[in-house]
Amino acid sequence: MDFVTGLRCRECSRTYPAEALHVCDYCFGPLEVAYDYDAMAVTVTRERIESGPQSIWRYADLLPVTDTAPIDLRTGFTPLVRADRLAAELGLGELWIKNDTVNPTGSFKDRVVSVALTRARELGFKVAACASTGNLANSVAAHAARAGMTSVVFIPKDLELAKVVTTAVYGGYLIAVDGTYDDVNRLCAELASEHPTWAFVNVNLRTYYAEGSKTLAFEVAEQLGWQAPDHVVVPVASGSQLTKIHKGFGELHRVGLLHDEPHVRVSGAQAAGCSPVATAFADGSDAIRPVRPKTIAKSLAIGNPADGWYALETVRQSGGSFAAASDEEILEGIRLLARTEGIFAETAGGVTIACLAKLATSGVVRPDELVVAYVTGNGLKTVEALAGTTGPTATIAPTIEAFASAVEVEGGSHTT
Ligand SMILES: *Cc1c(COP(=O)(O)O)cnc(C)c1O
Ligand SMILES: [Zn+2]
Repeated sequence: MDFVTGLRCRECSRTYPAEALHVCDYCFGPLEVAYDYDAMAVTVTRERIESGPQSIWRYADLLPVTDTAPIDLRTGFTPLVRADRLAAELGLGELWIKNDTVNPTGSFKDRVVSVALTRARELGFKVAACASTGNLANSVAAHAARAGMTSVVFIPKDLELAKVVTTAVYGGYLIAVDGTYDDVNRLCAELASEHPTWAFVNVNLRTYYAEGSKTLAFEVAEQLGWQAPDHVVVPVASGSQLTKIHKGFGELHRVGLLHDEPHVRVSGAQAAGCSPVATAFADGSDAIRPVRPKTIAKSLAIGNPADGWYALETVRQSGGSFAAASDEEILEGIRLLARTEGIFAETAGGVTIACLAKLATSGVVRPDELVVAYVTGNGLKTVEALAGTTGPTATIAPTIEAFASAVEVEGGSHTT
C-alpha cells in the first residue's frame, strides 16, 4: 500500500482515490490499482521477499493493502511441481504444474479473497459479500469467519454438494438463487448499490480482489529462480486471473526482480460448454458474445465474462492461444493429471489439462518451451463429476481365490 498512488481507469486513465470504487464515472471503464513502481523498485528486493512469510503475504509490497496483520488462512506459496510424467504423455519438455488445489479452502480464490477482504476491513467494511460459482463462496465465508465479519454469499442453486456444504459450515448467510451465475452476478450488482456498506469482493472491491491473482505469477517466477516461464496455460471464467498473471510477470520485471525480460506467452483454457472468450479468439472477433453455460466445469461457468475482452487482448498480444474442452475431455484431463502426477484437481483443473493437451497436439505449446499449467481447484470439491465413471477395480468376497480370479496386477509378480 505504501506504493499505491490510487486507482486508474483502464480505458481513459482518469485517476481516483484508493477507495471501494470499481468503475469510471466518465466512461464506465474498469478501474485498476496504480502503483509508484520507481519507489517500489528501491525498496523491494529478492532478499526482502525471500525472508517473508510462506504465503502470498511475502509479496505485500506489491499488493494494495497496508495492514501488517492481513486476514490470512495461510494462502499461497503453493507447490510448483515438475511434471515429467505428464510432459512425456503430452510430448512436451519442461512442464510444471502450479498446484493451487492445496490452498486453505481448496482453490486459488483464497488469494483474491485474502487481499480483497483485508482491504475491505481497512476501509471500514464489516460485511463481506459475493456472487460466486462456488469457490469464491467457500473462500469468502472462511475468511469472513476468520476476521469476525458477517458474510452474505450468493450462489446459483445447482452447485456441487461439497461447495455448498463447505460454504455453509462457516456460519454466514448463504443464498441459493434460482438462476445462472450471470443472474446471480446481476442481482449482486443491484444489491451492491442498495447496500453500499457491504464489501462485495467481486463488485465494489473488485479492483483489489483482482490484484490477488498477481501472486500466481510472483510465486512461479520466484520458484523458478526469479525467471518467468515461456508459456503459461490459465483457466478462464471472468478472465481476471489470466490478465493479472500476465501483469504480475511484467511488474516483477519493472521493479527489477527478474534476471531477464519476460516474454510469457499466455494461453487460455475454457470449457466448450461455456467458451465465450475462446470462441471470440477462434473467430478473430473483438466482440465476446455472452452464452448460457452448460458444462460440468461449474467454477468456470461465466457466460458473460467481465474481463473477457482484456483476457482476449492479453492472449493475442502475448502470442498465445485458446482451447476449449468438452465434458468428456475435462474428465479425461482430471484422470490424466491424477494418474501421472498424483494431483487430484476439480473440473476447472481438468479444463486446464485437457486444453494443455490440445495446445500441445496442435503445436501451440512447444516442447522447447518452459511451460507452467495453472491447476486452480481441488478435486474433492467436484467428486460427483467422476462418480459413476471411477470406482473400485473389482468388488470381491474376502478370499485369496476371489482376488486371484478378479484381477491381475500389472508389474505385480516378484520373481527374482
Ligand atoms: C474462479 C476460478 C477460475 C477463474 O477465475 P477468473 O479470474 O474469474 O477467470 C479458475 N479456476 C477456479 C478453480 C476458479 O474457481
Ligand atoms: Zn474512464
